[in-house]
Amino acid sequence: SSGLAGGGFLLHWEATTKTLEVLDGREVAPQRSQPSDFLTPSGTALPWREATRSPQAIGIPGTVALLWDAHQHHGQLPWAQTLAPAIRTATDGFKPSPRFLRSLHLAKRFGVAHSPAFQALYLPGGQPPPADQPFRNPALARTLSALAREGGPAFYAGPLAQQILGGVNALKTTTPNFRGWSASDLSSYAVVRRAPLCSHQLGHRICTMPPPSSGGIGLLQTLALLNQSTPLAESAPDDPTVWRQLGKAQAWADADRLYWVHDPIDGAVPSAALLDPAYINSRARAMQGANGSRPTPGLPAGIKDYPYGRPDRGIEQGTSQITIVDASGNIASYTSSVETIFGSRHLVGGMVMNNQLTDFAFKPSLGGKPVANRRLPGRRPMSSMAPTLVFRKGEPVLALGSPGGRSIPHLLSRVLLASLAWNEPPARAVGLPHLSRRGTTLVLESDPPLPWPFPLQQLKSEANSRRQSIGSGTALIQKIGAGWQGAADPRREGTALALP
Ligand code: GLU
Repeated sequence: SSGLAGGGFLLHWEATTKTLEVLDGREVAPQRSQPSDFLTPSGTALPWREATRSPQAIGIPGTVALLWDAHQHHGQLPWAQTLAPAIRTATDGFKPSPRFLRSLHLAKRFGVAHSPAFQALYLPGGQPPPADQPFRNPALARTLSALAREGGPAFYAGPLAQQILGGVNALKTTTPNFRGWSASDLSSYAVVRRAPLCSHQLGHRICTMPPPSSGGIGLLQTLALLNQSTPLAESAPDDPTVWRQLGKAQAWADADRLYWVHDPIDGAVPSAALLDPAYINSRARAMQGANGSRPTPGLPAGIKDYPYGRPDRGIEQGTSQITIVDASGNIASYTSSVETIFGSRHLVGGMVMNNQLTDFAFKPSLGGKPVANRRLPGRRPMSSMAPTLVFRKGEPVLALGSPGGRSIPHLLSRVLLASLAWNEPPARAVGLPHLSRRGTTLVLESDPPLPWPFPLQQLKSEANSRRQSIGSGTALIQKIGAGWQGAADPRREGTALALP
């Protein structure tokens, strides 16, 4: 669900030096961006589907820079050797999987008329490729081979960069208001090393992705709010009260993270203040006293007035989680994304171009105030992705992450509750049902891999509830005894495996 022309976040633990490193390879808005790029001429927000295919949605990709950076610092095999299997797969093809084919149907529904190249490759004759024949992408094989030969920097300067630039700027002919990218948009792209966001929850130290992701703050706030309202030590999965409170805590954490988080290039996000125990305490009290109305953001200590307008909401999908522990105990938790299914459906060099910039607020200001997460040149849009590592007594004991767009902190808070409070083994922690409270609606997973541990009528809450599929893709690895056990989410096609 991801690809080279997207972005991502990596948490890397180096066992010998006991260092946790955070690499931010998020897409960046090109220099010629304007805050109003997702508005119609009359000033309303562009309809979401239209925005997903707009060239304005394509951010300067960070994936190759992130992988190259991580490889330069921690790689053990030669770079070209690590790319060889992907080149082989793109050249010789792979048997289309059911999810791949379903995703192509979905991409078609989202609209592909704007991209003849996408249609020619993925929907020949208007239909997804035959399931029984290898699907090949020779243009991608050429791009990968150039990267294997020349290294990651070739994506950002030189002939391959020129090809990417040419491909993106050609979209100006069909989208007249698209101002295009400049060579320096690519050449100035830089991975940012950030300090992890850590907090003590459920008897563990949980470290996750800081801004520009709001997923980490959301995850940590959810667990903290939940812990204040329900004694988790005695809780069990068959207690509907905990689940109900979990949903509430998700919504209260969302109110804060979707308001406060933006690219920290414009000034620090008050992450520590939003996780301060006194602040959490006051939010938990307000949460308990609240009826089912939509929670509003709080004012953490030191901030006197609301500086931003309240943002609108949005939807997404097109992300993969990869979690690895190697024989030396080094760990990678990596979330990689092109945003929507098949990103913008624009293809350049065989690569699906992301549409991650739809993660910016479409309306740059609301109620006379700027929105924190507004689109500005050189900025990274707020994300919800939250690759996470959990420590006990200074040693890592669990690593996880998931796709799922705005629901990511909801999914991960439920999984961590199961692993750390209920002591569920990895496969059960991942497979138990999900709930995701979105504003005033409680979404209950309609077809979970493991059944709900109680009749759903017992989950009655003040929110309207709705049953729906929830497409998490959690990849979890946990230290159990002397070894590690993994679980891949049965809701997608991932696998957990041990390599010799
Ligand atoms: N674009 C989303 C984000 O960065 C991820 C999309 C997904 O999980 O499918 O938060």
